[in-house]
Amino acid sequence: MKVKDPVCGMTIDSDRAAAHGTYDGETVYFCAVSCQKTFEARRAKR
Ligand SMILES: [Zn+2]
Repeated sequence: MKVKDPVCGMTIDSDRAAAHGTYDGETVYFCAVSCQKTFEARRAKR
């Protein structure tokens, strides 16, 4: 499944995502662990 990394906008394959997490019941995939960290940091600021 093709998914979009919400941090850098890169299209990645969910099977090859370097990191993923579930946020508000939705699984979000990232190209790198650093993108996940950025995503989580942004969420924490809300
Ligand atoms: Zn990324």
